[in-house]
Amino acid sequence: MRQCYSARSPCDISKLATLPGTPFGPSRLADLTPTELRRSASTWGPRHLVPYRLLVQPVTSYLKAFEVDHRQSCPVCSPKNASAQILDHDMVKNLLRDVDIHSTKRDLLREPGGFFWVSLALACHPDRKNETKTYPERERRPMTNSHYADSSVAIPGSSSPTQPSSSEYEDAASRDIDEDEYEERRRIPEDIAARLGTDFASFALQLCLIQGDRSVEICPRVDHRRTKTTIANVDNIICEDDGGLCEFEKTPHGWVAAHPFIALFEAKRAFGQLWVDPKTGESSPITSDQTLAQYLAEAVITRRGNRKFFKREWVPLHNEKAKSSAIMLSSVFIVALSSTFGRICHFHFGDYYDEYLDASAADQGHLINDNTKDTCVHLQCTKWFNLQTSDGRKIGLCHILALLRWYHTQDHEGSAGASSDTNMSSSSSSGSDMDYG
Ligand SMILES: [Zn+2]
Repeated sequence: MRQCYSARSPCDISKLATLPGTPFGPSRLADLTPTELRRSASTWGPRHLVPYRLLVQPVTSYLKAFEVDHRQSCPVCSPKNASAQILDHDMVKNLLRDVDIHSTKRDLLREPGGFFWVSLALACHPDRKNETKTYPERERRPMTNSHYADSSVAIPGSSSPTQPSSSEYEDAASRDIDEDEYEERRRIPEDIAARLGTDFASFALQLCLIQGDRSVEICPRVDHRRTKTTIANVDNIICEDDGGLCEFEKTPHGWVAAHPFIALFEAKRAFGQLWVDPKTGESSPITSDQTLAQYLAEAVITRRGNRKFFKREWVPLHNEKAKSSAIMLSSVFIVALSSTFGRICHFHFGDYYDEYLDASAADQGHLINDNTKDTCVHLQCTKWFNLQTSDGRKIGLCHILALLRWYHTQDHEGSAGASSDTNMSSSSSSGSDMDYG
C-alpha cells in the first residue's frame, strides 16, 4: 500500500506501462476496462496512474509554484516586505504558540482560536475516555508494527532509495508516539482530519488574515461537492471532495459560493501506514499508490466537471485586434489531510491533457507519442507538516496565504492572470525530461 509510483518523465511512464506485471496500468485510457474507466474517484487505484499520465516531482518544503512569491511577499516570514496581505500579528502569534491540548475543553475554547485547539485535541486523542486511563510506565520506542513501511523502499521519487536522508518524510515535524497512541491514531476517521483542516484554515483566513472587503470572503467550505464528468467518452465519472477553500460573495439573498474550488480538501483515514524515521523514531503518514490515484482522480474530475470555475477569459495584452478567448487554468490544489498532518498537492495539467482525455483510442496513442505535446499531469507535493507543532502550523499558514495570493493573481489581473497560471506553474513543470532528473 505504500507509494512506489515515481514516474518523473513521459519516458518513465512508457517504461512503467510496459513492465511485465506492472501494477500501474496500460499505457492509454482506451486500454482500461470499461469498469475501470467508469470508477468513481474513491475507487481509483494504481492501474489509473499510467493511463492518466501522472508525473510526480520530488517533495519540497514550499511548492515551487509559490517559492519566489513566498520569498518576496509572505507577510509571516517577511513582514517588512510589501505584501498585499495584512495580518493580525497577535493572532499569528496565538496560532504559532504552544497550547496545552490536554486542558479541559472549556479552557481550550477560551483560548484565541479555541475552536482549532479543541479540534486538535480531538484529532490527537479521538477517544476522550482514554484520557482517564492510566497506562503503566514503559519505554517509548520506535514501532516495528507490520503497518510500518521499510524506510529503504518507502521513498517515492528518491534517486537513491537506499539513502533515507533523501526521504520526503524524514523531516516531517513530528514526535515519537507509543503503541497505544499509534493504535488510537489509526482509528482517527477522515471527518476528524477534515474538521481539523477546516478549523486550521479558519484560524488562518478569518483570524490571522485581515480580509478588508465586507462583501467577499474566502473561507473553508464544509459542504462536500460532488462532480460528474465525461472522460474518454465515458459519462458520469464521479468524485466528491471533503470540502475546500471557497470564495463567498454577499448577495441580496445571502452568501453564495462564487468559487468553491480554490483548493480541495481530501481527508484520509489516519495511519493506514506510517513511516518511521529510523534515526529519530519520528513518524508521519505514507501516501500509498491508491491514495495517490485518488488525489489524481479528484483533481482531474473536479477541474473537468467544473470548467466555468477553471476557465479564464484571455485577452491579448499588446494586440487590441486579436480576439479574446477562454483558457482552462492548468492548476488544481489539493490539501491532503490525515490525522494531525497536512500537505499541499499542486497538480499542473499539460497543454494537451484535455485533448488527450477527449481523444479517440487511436488519437490517444498519437498524442502520447508526440513528444512536442505535453499530455501529462505534473504533481508536486509539500512534505507532510504536523499541525501539532508550531513549525507545522507556520508552513500551513504560509501555504494558505500563498494560495490566496495565487488565486487573486488569477482572478483580478485579467489577461495577465490567465497567463500567470502557466507562469507560476512553469517552474514546476515543463516538457523537458531534464526537469525530472
Ligand atoms: Zn512564509
